[in-house]
Amino acid sequence: MYGVVGGHLRRMVQISGVNPQGNKMTEFSKEKNPDERITLAHGHGGLASHKLINDSFLPVFSSPELDPLDDAAIADLESGKIAFSTDSFVVQPLFFPGGDIGKLAVAGTVNDLAVMGAHPVLLSVAFIIEEGFPLADLARIGHSMAETSRDAGVRVATGDTKVVPRGAMDGLFVNTSGIGIRREGISVSGSFAKSGQAVLLSGPAGDHGAAIICARNELGIEGDIISDCRPLWDLISPLLDKLGGSISVMRDPTRGGVATTLNEIARASGVGIEIEETAIPVRPSTRAVCEILGFDPLYLANEGAVLIIIDNDKVKSALNIIHAHTAGKFAVKIGEVKDDLNGKVILKTAAGGRRIVDMLAGEMLPRIC
Ligand code: MG
Repeated sequence: MYGVVGGHLRRMVQISGVNPQGNKMTEFSKEKNPDERITLAHGHGGLASHKLINDSFLPVFSSPELDPLDDAAIADLESGKIAFSTDSFVVQPLFFPGGDIGKLAVAGTVNDLAVMGAHPVLLSVAFIIEEGFPLADLARIGHSMAETSRDAGVRVATGDTKVVPRGAMDGLFVNTSGIGIRREGISVSGSFAKSGQAVLLSGPAGDHGAAIICARNELGIEGDIISDCRPLWDLISPLLDKLGGSISVMRDPTRGGVATTLNEIARASGVGIEIEETAIPVRPSTRAVCEILGFDPLYLANEGAVLIIIDNDKVKSALNIIHAHTAGKFAVKIGEVKDDLNGKVILKTAAGGRRIVDMLAGEMLPRIC
């Protein structure tokens, strides 16, 4: 545990984005001997652990909460409702076009807070590392996490590092937990979808899943697909400012993709959802990968897109706001909530037919996040 005591949140928010020591990791990465590896001693809590934390993590994650290195982080938070979320990341490969496990771990938790209408504020980061893991890779990942945290305006408040013997796991796993402050007057939940509302999708379906398939290159598929992995609070925040009262549901379609996420919403809300195949944005490269492998892009994960269920008369203004963001250029209405579909998600196909889109059965693609 490297923990915290620290400053007042308002002050922290103002200075977030300015990490006075933010460049140290780059220097550290450059200096790193490429042959230097993690040893069990790095996880024993003694001198080697302290050196690892002092060299690799503290310079990049420095924050008023983290720096005192007490057993727990202390922070003054604004009054209001707190959102609290956790997620573990086991993605393979660790580095992929558009991101790496570190960026993914920060964006994943930040986005889970953001889609609950909460301004992400604090993060914990925990690393489980296999003996023999290259220190230079760890440095690169730490740097990426720090950069993504600054982009998202969150501060790393506490963390942990464990090392397990070679063979006990595969390389590196990362867990992040996050705390956000729910925007006042916002009330969103997967169970709030109402008949007649519109379903919006902020970006092309399946970009992250398709990028991971290509990065693995194990199926003989090569491609230049870039993961959409990124924090989304800066896309969601203006939407809440202007139209928050008209939004019932926000969800990031990660594992299981758009299809599974819509099914979760339909079940939780006790409604049906009808989507139009021709309306759903899918990149041609993602479609090509899916055609070769027999995958459906509707089941491939996004890590930088959001499904929004909003009153139908607000669709135009919502899309105008989302389109202004680089990650929302392809945002579009993909369907509507209905109360006469027996709780099913129905796809109106390009050929004019209708079919049930069920939850993902089994694991289509393991270790994508
Ligand atoms: Mg989520």
